Amino acid sequence: MRELNDVSASSITSMHCGGKIECLLEVDSTEELLYLVSTLEEFFVLGGGTNTIFRDGRVPIPVIRLGQSFNFIKTDKDSLYVGSATPIAELLDFCTTDGLSGLEFMAGIPGKIGGALYMNAGAKDKAIMESVSTIEIIDKKGVRTIKKQDLDYCYRCGGISPKATIISAHFLLDRASPTVVKKNIATALGHRKNQPKGYSSGSIFMNPEGTSAGYLIDQVGLKGFKVGGAVVSDDHANFIINQGSATTSDIRTLISIIKKRVKDAFGIELKEEVAIVG
Ligand SMILES: Cc1cc2nc3c(=O)[nH]c(=O)nc-3n(C[C@H](O)[C@H](O)[C@H](O)COP(=O)(O)OP(=O)(O)OC[C@H]3O[C@@H](n4cnc5c(N)ncnc54)[C@H](O)[C@@H]3O)c2cc1C
Repeated sequence: MRELNDVSASSITSMHCGGKIECLLEVDSTEELLYLVSTLEEFFVLGGGTNTIFRDGRVPIPVIRLGQSFNFIKTDKDSLYVGSATPIAELLDFCTTDGLSGLEFMAGIPGKIGGALYMNAGAKDKAIMESVSTIEIIDKKGVRTIKKQDLDYCYRCGGISPKATIISAHFLLDRASPTVVKKNIATALGHRKNQPKGYSSGSIFMNPEGTSAGYLIDQVGLKGFKVGGAVVSDDHANFIINQGSATTSDIRTLISIIKKRVKDAFGIELKEEVAIVG
């Protein structure tokens, strides 16, 4: 296990903001993880940091990150067995080479498999949990395997307790030729052509039932609206871009303004998709 102190949150998140993480623990075995999960009162598990923002100033909550031994992809009978520290892009490369279809819609979503499962990440009405058969987790009860049907997953929620750490998952995918998988991935990436560039956490809010958060934010005229170094993207109103100097406080203020303006105009309460820690 590696313990890193005073780690800049900006260096390990895609929004590139926030203060100093007092204690970042990088674990390399299930035993180490089991020890931490059973001894720490509270902790936060970080994947690729593409949907997470840490507070400004000191971040006292211990942050656990899974090391390279949780980055693996293996064929296990009819399913694919994937470690949760595996980057989504690596899994898609494997699926292309091996001719496995079902996850191509994930192309272009940054981050790691553990974060994607926790968030039930997805695009275009598809989400990762649809292709899962079981998830392996560690919590105070030990190492457990949970069947997909026992998880209460839904839109942007994998149904996994925040007290549990996902270590791996089994996926059930279809056989297809590598050419077809490659083509599907290219199509998915094509849908992202106009995705805003720059430091961000992707969509800040979940889409409310029957509409999109981006549309509502655009309608209240907030595209281009700025607080400090944080701005509502001109390309996609559900993205907040850190222009380089944004603090988490700037982003929080911007989020509050957006929520109030949308609530006042449409009576709709936007809910954050991004996790803000501390
Ligand atoms: C440019 C951009 C585009 C994006 N597009 C999309 C999109 O199209 N669709 C979409 O759904 N998302 C999108 N996202 C958001 C993000 O990439 C996804 O939610 C991704 O799956 C998060 O993975 P991560 O490893 O970075 O998670 P993190 O940000 O590290 O963590 C996210 C959450 O998962 C939890 N978590 C992480 N790992 C584990 C684990 N091993 N066990 C238990 N809990 C864990 C964390 O505690 C946190 O609550 C986008 C982000 C960016 C920056």
